[in-house]
Amino acid sequence: MKRVTVIGAGPAGLTAALELCRLGCDVEVFEASPHVGGMARSFPLWGVPVDLGPHRFFTRDPRITQFWLDLAGEDFELVNRLTRIHYRGRFYDYPLRPANALANLGWGEAARCGGSYLREKVNRALSRKQPDNFEEWVVSAFGQRLYELFFQAYSEKLWGIPCRDLDIDFAAQRIQRFSLGRALLAAFGWERSSHKTLTSTFAHPVQGCGVIYERMATRILAAGGRIHLSTPIAGINRAGDGVILADGTTRSCDHLVSTMPLTQLCRSLPDAPGPILQALDQLHYRNTILVYLRVAHDRLFPDQWVYVQTPELRLGRITNFRNWPSGRRDASGTSILALEYWCDRGSDLWTSDDAALIALGERELARTGLLQNAPVLDGHVVRLPCCYPVYRKGYREWLHPVIAFLRQNHPGIHAIGRYGAFKYNNQDHSILMGILAAENIAHGTTHNLWEINTDYGVYQESGS
Ligand SMILES: Cc1cc2nc3c(=O)[nH]c(=O)nc-3n(C[C@H](O)[C@H](O)[C@H](O)COP(=O)(O)OP(=O)(O)OC[C@H]3O[C@@H](n4cnc5c(N)ncnc54)[C@H](O)[C@@H]3O)c2cc1C
Repeated sequence: MKRVTVIGAGPAGLTAALELCRLGCDVEVFEASPHVGGMARSFPLWGVPVDLGPHRFFTRDPRITQFWLDLAGEDFELVNRLTRIHYRGRFYDYPLRPANALANLGWGEAARCGGSYLREKVNRALSRKQPDNFEEWVVSAFGQRLYELFFQAYSEKLWGIPCRDLDIDFAAQRIQRFSLGRALLAAFGWERSSHKTLTSTFAHPVQGCGVIYERMATRILAAGGRIHLSTPIAGINRAGDGVILADGTTRSCDHLVSTMPLTQLCRSLPDAPGPILQALDQLHYRNTILVYLRVAHDRLFPDQWVYVQTPELRLGRITNFRNWPSGRRDASGTSILALEYWCDRGSDLWTSDDAALIALGERELARTGLLQNAPVLDGHVVRLPCCYPVYRKGYREWLHPVIAFLRQNHPGIHAIGRYGAFKYNNQDHSILMGILAAENIAHGTTHNLWEINTDYGVYQESGS
C-alpha cells in the first residue's frame, strides 16, 4: 500500500484523497483550519448556509461534471445567472451587452466607446502588435473607453497594481472577448445558438457549495482515510519525504500531495537553494476580506452578485445570498450580503478590526444606493489569506524555476490547487488536479499537473 500524505482539505486535497482511497492507497489528510472545503466551504450564518463570496460551479469537462453530480445527488438547483456591473449608481449587464450599455451610457458616451473600439481594431490590424499586458489585452478586446469605464478600477482594486503591470494570463483566463459582429447578430435576434451557456445558468447545492466537500470528507473516512482538522503542517522533513507538524513530530510517507501555498511549501524544503528562495520572494498572493451584513430588506437587488466598478469605493463585489438557493428558502424577510475587499497582508484593511470593517462595509454599501436606506441588523467578518495568486507581468520567469526545482529534486511531492500550484483556479480546476494527481501516484501516469487551467479563451463563459 502506498502511503500518501495530503496537506489541505480544500477541493484539490479532498479530491486527491478520495481518489487515492478508491485506488487503494493509505491516505492521511492534514488541514490547518477546523473545517473542510477550504475557500469553497459553506457555513451557517444567521440561520442561512452561506459561501465565502459567490461560488458558482461550472466546468467544460464531462468527467468533472459527473464527479460533482455524484456528490451533489439531487440536492442542487439551477440558478439563472444575473451578475451585473454597478457603476456610479447604474447597472450594466456583464458580460457586456451593447444595447444595455447604450441605454445606460447615452448616445454621446456610447459613440465614444464605439469609436474607440473601432479605432483600436484598425490600429491593431495595421500594427499587428500583440497585447503585452492586461491593459493592452482588454483595450484590444473592448477599446480604450470601455476598458476605462468597466475594467480598470475593478481590476486595480482586485490586484492592487496598475493594469499594465498585470500579465495577460489573467485576462485570457477570465474575460470573455467581445465580438461586435456577434453582438449585432444578437441585437437583431439572428444568433443561432439557443443552448444555455455558462453565462446564463449554473448549478448550486441547496446547502451551499461546501456540502460537496463535506460529502467528500465523509466518503474518505468511510473508505479508511484519516482527516486531521486544526492540524497545520509546519514544514517538510529533511529528506523531503514527510511532513512536520506544529508540535515538531514528523510523519513520513511515500508521496506528498500539497495544496498549501506553493511559496510556503518550497520555503520549508531544506534543500531550496538561494536562487529559488529569491524567485519565491517574487511570487505574491492577494488576500480577501469578506464583510457579511444582514439587512432588514428582502428585495434589495435581484443579482446573485454585483461587480462594484465605482472607483471611489474600496468595495469590489457584493454577493446577495437572498438570490441563491439557500437564501430563497429564508423566511426571515432579511437579506445576507457579502462585501468583498482585497488587500495585501499588513495593509490598513488587513489589520483593521472587525467592528471597523463592518462600519466601512455599511458606509460603502449605503453610498452605492443598493441599501435603499434599509437598516443593517448585524455584521460578520471572514479573512481569507493568499486566495489570489498575483499574475504580475513576467511572473512565469519566477514560477518556472520553482516548478523545475520541485520536479527534479522532489518527484514525490505533488503541488496542486489554487495557491498550491499558484494557479488562478476555480473549483473544477482544483478537482481535476486532485483526480490527476491521484492517478499519477497510484498508476504511475505522467499527467502534467502544471498545465491544468491553461485552457484560455473559451473557458469562462461559453459551453453548456
Ligand atoms: C471570494 C471567492 C470567490 C470564488 N468564486 C468561485 C466561483 O464562483 N466558482 C469557482 O469554481 N470557484 C470560485 N472560487 C475559487 C475556489 O474557492 C477555489 O478554486 C477552490 O477552493 C480551490 O481549492 P483548493 O483545494 O485548490 O484550495 P483551497 O480551497 O484554498 O484549500 C486549501 C486548503 O489547505 C489548507 N492549508 C493551507 N496551508 C496549510 C498547512 N500549512 N497545513 C495544512 N493545511 C493547510 C487551507 O486551510 C485550505 O483548507 C472563489 C474563491 C474566492 C476566494
